[in-house]
Amino acid sequence: MRKIQMVDLKGQYKNIKERVDSSIMNVIETTAFVNGPEVHQFQKEFEDYLGVKHVIPCANGTDALQIAMMGLGLMPGDEVITADFTFAATVEVIALLQLTPVLVDVDPVNFNIDIEAIKKAITPKTKAIVPVHLFGLAANMDEIMEVAKEHNLYVIEDNAQGIGADYTSKDGTKQKTGTIGHVASTSFFPSKNLGCYGDGGAIFTNDDDLAHIIRGIVNHGMYERYHHDVVGVNSRLDSIQAAVLRAKLPHLDDYNKARKIAAQKYSEAFKNHKNIITPTGCGNCSNEEIDGCNCHVYHQYTLKIVDADRDALVKHLNEKEIPCGVYYPIPLHLQKAYQDERYKEEDFKVTNQLVKEVISLPMHTELDDEQIDYITKTVIEFMENN
Ligand SMILES: *Cc1c(COP(=O)(O)O)cnc(C)c1O
Repeated sequence: MRKIQMVDLKGQYKNIKERVDSSIMNVIETTAFVNGPEVHQFQKEFEDYLGVKHVIPCANGTDALQIAMMGLGLMPGDEVITADFTFAATVEVIALLQLTPVLVDVDPVNFNIDIEAIKKAITPKTKAIVPVHLFGLAANMDEIMEVAKEHNLYVIEDNAQGIGADYTSKDGTKQKTGTIGHVASTSFFPSKNLGCYGDGGAIFTNDDDLAHIIRGIVNHGMYERYHHDVVGVNSRLDSIQAAVLRAKLPHLDDYNKARKIAAQKYSEAFKNHKNIITPTGCGNCSNEEIDGCNCHVYHQYTLKIVDADRDALVKHLNEKEIPCGVYYPIPLHLQKAYQDERYKEEDFKVTNQLVKEVISLPMHTELDDEQIDYITKTVIEFMENN
């Protein structure tokens, strides 16, 4: 059996090596290292793929979130509601901009931001909601957009983990995640579903005016050369990274499908196990069929281990050379940097519990049946003997 990796970037590279190598060499030959034609072409191709009017490439997914918030003109003291159970970048940029992060609990079934908790957290100072399509599963955008509309709030989708997922609305319309809110961010960090070979990110929006503002912000607040109209940042996507992304974008749907097939094999093996809860779909679909709803792109395949010792399982898997991860081990509201005396523990029942139960298994495009078999058997064996 091939050695199991949490993410197998080398295996994926081998299948697209020729295209990637020649594109990278081409950038080097032309020396258009920053904002070269590859960046522009990737932007257009990505806009087409997503069905969104504007993609603005930038340096990473954290910058993308920050720039989206700057573009919306959020001001110090404005409150921004986001999930307590996500990667820290989401809350970090809110705090950096001196906005007030308001962390709220998540749903115990799909791990995404809890709509009732959002409603409870809204005050006259609330300006925006940041849903995260966590682990690749689309958040409940219908309800989030409805709450936002009612209270006149912006919605900024953190789509770093959900690239390529479709969100199906109650009325049956399908849209890519990241194209539903006012603005969205994504990351091309190598391990993301569409990863480059370094850092990269992008902002998406259908709003022409906002896109214009953001294009200036990423480039030192310049709309005309050496005229700085607003305080901006320097956040660019390298041409070499864009070349890699152009080589990978045509395969993204196949990559996501490979992840989904692996996820379904895992879930099939774990089904009916009383201590293992497998991931669900968006709720608007049945998640049974591979060609059905595409609401989950399995950035992570995350189980809940209930009434059993999750940490002992992690240790056991590591001993058996099966990498695994706990995303995330500490709720954000308990992190030193993001504590706030207004938070009450009883408002975070779900995240406080999830951090003890979740475990993410190896998930990438190159998992084979033998590896999946070995992983599922090792997990089940351990659960039955402990
Ligand atoms: C990866 C990630 C980010 C940050 O992306 P970088 O490119 O690493 O800056 C932000 N939010 C979420 C949910 C992520 O998973």
